[in-house]
Amino acid sequence: MSPKVDLHIHTSYSDGAYSPIEIIDKAYASGLSIISITDHDSIDGIRDAIIYGKEKGIEVIPGLELSTDIEDKEMHLLAYFIDYENEELNKYLKFFREERLYRAKRIIQKLRNLGLNIKIDDVLDRAKNSSIGRPHIAYTLVDLGLVKSYAEAFEKYIGDYGPAYERKIHISPQSALKLINEAGGLSFIAHPGYMKESILLNIIKSGIDGIEVIHPSHDENQINFYRGIVNQYCLLETGGSDFHGGKKNDEGNLGNYYISINHVDAMRKMLLKNTA
Ligand code: AMP
Ligand code: ZN
Ligand code: FE
Ligand code: FE
Repeated sequence: MSPKVDLHIHTSYSDGAYSPIEIIDKAYASGLSIISITDHDSIDGIRDAIIYGKEKGIEVIPGLELSTDIEDKEMHLLAYFIDYENEELNKYLKFFREERLYRAKRIIQKLRNLGLNIKIDDVLDRAKNSSIGRPHIAYTLVDLGLVKSYAEAFEKYIGDYGPAYERKIHISPQSALKLINEAGGLSFIAHPGYMKESILLNIIKSGIDGIEVIHPSHDENQINFYRGIVNQYCLLETGGSDFHGGKKNDEGNLGNYYISINHVDAMRKMLLKNTA
């Protein structure tokens, strides 16, 4: 059997349920040979995964899923083969995380002004290592009995037009691409299934290296469509399970959404070309 490759996995360093060590054990049990740890806006889980992966015979490609914004919508970019010690990248990720924390504090203050008894520490307990976002606040509001459901938290308070909403910092896909390039990595559009074609073409023109074709949210038609685009524009293909574990109920996905090793070989060739 040819080796199975999953290049989209989260750990507890963002919003995944498992530590990098637990992920390696699970990847091993799922028959994967090569994985990438792609936490949201964090590279802190990579080192442990690489070290323990070596012990278990699993190659770990250093990765990252960056949040960017375009036309007021969030767009995720996947990065692979990054130098995770790159200074600019580390500086940006630290800044991003601090900004998210300040923003969460502003949202909490607005909620308190509305008479809700919620404290930032309640939310921080939930967010653990990950960069803090509205979902953490929504779950905390549910836990504290201040709303009946996760959806109600957004509808009544923290949704885009809610009374406790605060904007977060924005980074354009183009700036993110630059950051990834300078850290020696390759950049991919993550799960484009929902994306307007004009936006997709724009990002391709900006110099993206590839597209995520295999993803649990993509049906057969989308897979064929995005593979067509990859071929048409001579791009690279990636894919994986976008595994989080825990509340996401996606335990069955690990080992079932994967790409072939040919795609990783193509990435390595591209990296060689970039450094030549
Ligand atoms: P943030 O990045 O902190 O602004 O949080 C964005 C996340 O909040 C999205 O990825 C969604 O998971 C969630 N979210 C945003 N709006 C809603 C909504 N109206 N209902 C439920 N979840 C939402
Ligand atoms: Zn996630
Ligand atoms: Fe994503
Ligand atoms: Fe993801």
